[in-house]
Amino acid sequence: MNIGERVRKILNEVPTYLKVVAATKGRSPEEINEAVESGINFIGENYLQEAESKYKLIKKDVKWHFIGHLQKNKVKKVVRLFDMIETLDSLDLAEIIDKECSKIGKVIPVLIEINSAGEPQKSGVLFEDLQKIVEGLLNFKYIKVKGLMTMGPVVKDVEEIRPFFIKTKEAFEKIKSLYKNELQWEELSMGMSDTYRIAIQEGATIVRIGRAIFEDNYDNKNSF
Ligand SMILES: *Cc1c(COP(=O)(O)O)cnc(C)c1O
Repeated sequence: MNIGERVRKILNEVPTYLKVVAATKGRSPEEINEAVESGINFIGENYLQEAESKYKLIKKDVKWHFIGHLQKNKVKKVVRLFDMIETLDSLDLAEIIDKECSKIGKVIPVLIEINSAGEPQKSGVLFEDLQKIVEGLLNFKYIKVKGLMTMGPVVKDVEEIRPFFIKTKEAFEKIKSLYKNELQWEELSMGMSDTYRIAIQEGATIVRIGRAIFEDNYDNKNSF
């Protein structure tokens, strides 16, 4: 199979409400164009500079999601280029995002990144700090917080990731019921090439897929 065939197979198998973000770090504009011509409408980039160099070369009008670790000195350009930030992890960062968006009159949708396994070396918000962050985000005029994103830990057997997706979904539902009047809380981004089937079963509305789209020898075990 080539890129286009792999994209069409994945899109045929997943539910129609699902947003499939192609994780495109390290992939060329030619590879990305093959994916978008076969139906991909969302691109996830981890690095600003890489996104800038590819942006004009992508043929279709797609939505760009920032999925990498966001450094404060990159915010000014990131809010101009991207349609969503999936990796908000502090109120300090939110303050800078809000300020930069206010300058250009843009309201940017964001997801809060959850460190669902509580790994000290990883970025993301711990479950116990989530409500405080949500509460703080209500004060920003130019940020629309729409849900959660998680990577989950690196696991040997993919089933080991399921409990972390379940916990993230529970936190998602809790915030949804607490803030039903204040928020348009609707996106849950979890699942990658190895784990997107499990993520969908546990309530993901967004999955971020790299290798299963772009790698010829990738053995896709997400059978539906
Ligand atoms: C690379 C990456 C992905 C996709 O990973 P694959 O295993 O290639 O599908 C998803 N999310 C983030 C944040 C990434 O950096």
